[in-house]
Amino acid sequence: MASIGNKSINAKLVLLGDAGAGKSSLVLRFVKGQFVEFQESTIGAAFFSQTVALNDATERYHGLAPLYYRGAAAAIIVYDRTNQTSFDQAKKWVEEFQAQGNPNMVTALAGNKLDLLDANKVASEEAQTYAQENGLFFMETSAKTAKNPAPNPSGMFLVDRPSD
Ligand code: GDP
Repeated sequence: MASIGNKSINAKLVLLGDAGAGKSSLVLRFVKGQFVEFQESTIGAAFFSQTVALNDATERYHGLAPLYYRGAAAAIIVYDRTNQTSFDQAKKWVEEFQAQGNPNMVTALAGNKLDLLDANKVASEEAQTYAQENGLFFMETSAKTAKNPAPNPSGMFLVDRPSD
């Protein structure tokens, strides 16, 4: 197992969202730093296991640290910014997830395909407001250009990616 810094954790992260939103592409970008233009769509969820380096700043978030140390999962609900239906569906994923999931789980909303600015159909402000109202972290990402795929891509290592 590789790690950067003096500590590492093994965290499971689940990505939820409509087929075509870019879940697999974000995973691929996150764990391998690559983008493949055409690949099979993933219906529903993509998941993988990853070791991330913890720094002192991360440890100060005491509320979150035990969650990570216990190996509990976090979730990112992904939508395609160029597809309004995918955003509507993401809201359904959020509702479902919040009704069933662990309330302590870190949950984020990601508006993917940020590189396709001209084709944007989902206003950033609308998504941001929705995320705030529902207690979600919010980010806009591009698996293609690597904009916001991860806070520190160089510190991320693939440990295990179960086939689904
Ligand atoms: P999934 O079904 O949610 O896993 O979505 P995929 O990762 O299979 O992506 C669906 C399609 O969108 C593929 O053709 C990807 O190449 C494309 N795609 C994914 N992320 C991005 C992105 O950030 N920008 C652009 N332009 N295309 C993307």
